[in-house]
Amino acid sequence: MGFLSCGISKAGYLENEAPRLEDWLNNNQNGQMSYMENHFDKRLDPTLLVDDAKSVVSLLFNYYPKDFLDSDSYKIAKYAYGEDYHYVVKDKLKEFLFSIQNEIGEVSGRAFVDSAPVLEKAWAAKSGLGWIGKNSNLLTQKVGSFYFIAELIIDLELEYDFATTDHCGTCTACIDACPTQAIVAPYVVDGSKCISYYTIELKDNIPAELKGKFDDWAFGCDVCQDVCPWNKFSTAHNEPLFETNPNLLAMSKKDWTEITEETFRIVFKNSPLKRAKYKGITRNINFLQ
Ligand code: SF4
Ligand code: SF4
Repeated sequence: MGFLSCGISKAGYLENEAPRLEDWLNNNQNGQMSYMENHFDKRLDPTLLVDDAKSVVSLLFNYYPKDFLDSDSYKIAKYAYGEDYHYVVKDKLKEFLFSIQNEIGEVSGRAFVDSAPVLEKAWAAKSGLGWIGKNSNLLTQKVGSFYFIAELIIDLELEYDFATTDHCGTCTACIDACPTQAIVAPYVVDGSKCISYYTIELKDNIPAELKGKFDDWAFGCDVCQDVCPWNKFSTAHNEPLFETNPNLLAMSKKDWTEITEETFRIVFKNSPLKRAKYKGITRNINFLQ
């Protein structure tokens, strides 16, 4: 089905993550992402989320593009170049679950792609798919970090994988390059300072003191991944639905400043950019000018 890799862990309480998540929330590093405060217990324990959960199957799906946007235009995070991954990857996960059911019989479970309270990076790391780097992304030595993480939580006992080792070493490239100093310590990203948060999640105006710091990022930000040496190993995906939207490829800065709500609706009908809505995107573009 095109997944890059798969790792499996026993479903249960994520002990090591609990204090980390609690500190992050207590320090308000989630900003206005109040949904992160909900379902605290379920977030740490999938057995509270899915009845009779026994195993968490983590899968990676590459989105590193073939065709990049014009470097003279406003910047969009690479994961948003094609169609909305929530649907694309979820469909593949469902297909995977069906194939497990065909092969094995009665297996129940649920599929998650950034869509429910699941700490996907922690599960993927626990299952040996990679390590969580100083930029807080899941990293692999083979393909870097430009992929989606998806989970199947199922009621089937399986053989479990082991965590891998950290290969960040003495590197601090991501911390040094972050335009808003959002990586406040190695492995700690203050979500409320991150350009992805400001350009996608924030509902209010972007604080004026940040003017000039966004380096033309209009939706998300890839800087801490682009500078990561492990991403030299990224190779292009081969998923047709993630092909770079041709309209997006053609858009100049002028087009962005002139885009109407109707055009936005048509061009980004199936795009992750819809999350920021027309209002959010135009706010971001105005802020960048
Ligand atoms: S995504 Fe951008 S703003 Fe956010 S931590 Fe990474 S480099 Fe900093
Ligand atoms: S840039 Fe360096 S420190 Fe940051 S995640 Fe990559 S390897 Fe780790």
